[in-house]
Amino acid sequence: MATAYDNFAAHIAELNDILCSISVLKWDARTQMPHGGAETRGHQLATLSRLSQEHFISDKTARLLDAAEAEIASEDPDSYRVRAVRQTRQYFEIIRKLPLDLVGEKAALEPVSEGVWAAAKQNNDFASFAPYLQKQVDLARRQADAIGYAEHPFDALVFEYEPSMTASKLRVLFEGLKVGLLPLLREIVANDKPLEKDLWMREYPLDKQKAFGWEMAQKFGYDVNRGRLDIAPHPFEISFTRQDVRITTRYKLNYFPMALYGTLHETGHALYEQGVDPSLTRSALAIDFLGKYPVGGTSYGVHESQSRLWENQIGRSRAFWNAHIDRFRHYFPEVGAEVDPEFMYRAVNRVRPSLIRVEADEVTYNLHIMLRVELELGLMDGSLKVADLPEVWNAKMEEYLGVTPPDDSRGVLQDIHWSGGGFGSFPGYTVGNVMSAQFLEAARRDVSGLDASLEAGEYAPLLGWLTENIYRHGRAFSGSELLIRTTGNDLTVEPYLRYLRAKFTDLYALPL
Ligand code: ZN
Repeated sequence: MATAYDNFAAHIAELNDILCSISVLKWDARTQMPHGGAETRGHQLATLSRLSQEHFISDKTARLLDAAEAEIASEDPDSYRVRAVRQTRQYFEIIRKLPLDLVGEKAALEPVSEGVWAAAKQNNDFASFAPYLQKQVDLARRQADAIGYAEHPFDALVFEYEPSMTASKLRVLFEGLKVGLLPLLREIVANDKPLEKDLWMREYPLDKQKAFGWEMAQKFGYDVNRGRLDIAPHPFEISFTRQDVRITTRYKLNYFPMALYGTLHETGHALYEQGVDPSLTRSALAIDFLGKYPVGGTSYGVHESQSRLWENQIGRSRAFWNAHIDRFRHYFPEVGAEVDPEFMYRAVNRVRPSLIRVEADEVTYNLHIMLRVELELGLMDGSLKVADLPEVWNAKMEEYLGVTPPDDSRGVLQDIHWSGGGFGSFPGYTVGNVMSAQFLEAARRDVSGLDASLEAGEYAPLLGWLTENIYRHGRAFSGSELLIRTTGNDLTVEPYLRYLRAKFTDLYALPL
């Protein structure tokens, strides 16, 4: 006879099926669908989203949860069963707190606001976007009030993306980064000299770019029987259970790093999803109840820790180019004859303060995020007015990066996030960077000979450690819990600052 937990799990498995089906339609819309399909696809997605909400926020879910909770009451609090029930309860209560009119207003505003933002960015016209941004700010604050928070309204919003983060923890995090990064950046800028030849003006045939990136993804451990690679203007990874985990990248004929590092970044996300324990398939621990990416991983920050670990700490390492220069020469013989691994290592690690977040290097990237998070905190607690955003944005760019945007298109209007009401999502990028260094230090401590294997281009020992300690758990443990279980510490900037200082002191021949 089915137990109460079995009945609960079967009900959640159906919800998982609906959410994964929504994701398939989203993947199709972003990679294959003809433009003409947009309107009807919108209806299909809206209908399925409504069905998933009705399925979840139902009296049946409440009954099944009550019964399952009673049944597992005395079980190990760290077991997957207990964690699945507990997390379902947590999200069930949060979603039930959101007033229906607020959810409806948000859903209706999003496409309009994103459209206005896209035009405003195109025309460098912040004033036309400001009223829509104000509406998004007002809705986000209403949402924070509905969910509730202890200290700062931002706490309720960041929970959706990084459950173990709060405004006050983020302030500490960024203060630590600022103290470490700003002096390092100043030293690098003072020591910068152009590379002796500009490789990125050559032509890199797209089919060769794809083949090299695909080969490297498989070297890292991406299982192509459960994956595929497509083209998308904004690269992403998406999964419909661990059995089908897809990635995308974009190509530029004259700029080789874009496609390769896009592929390696999304491969990092995919390795996480493919590594979730098979027993969690269709369960509450491989699902995002809020209908947001990521699906099987536990949070934005932990997901980004994996994409960035594989892209930057592995893919942009000297060891990577030492190990794979022959394969690069195989695909690109003319350029390959002119370069050695050391040149490639330098060429893909150039640090330059710039205006655009998505083009930023490892050292400046977090300063872009810090600026955004500071502004979001101000918008949410009312200390910053929407009308003052462009001016404050530009002043902070000058203060942190030493560059001032010539217009709002390359300043406050550059990112889509705020137009969709995505307040609270930016910290995940920096949290991910910081976590990635903590995890890699722990892997080095636990796996003897790890660096020798990386030098040899062998990634199974690293992937094995990450799978065992992070990937297999799906969403069972929060980012904070995973860090404490693997490293003994909660989030701390020291390993990340150590990593950056060592790497760029070497690259830029800075005094130690
Ligand atoms: Zn990512």
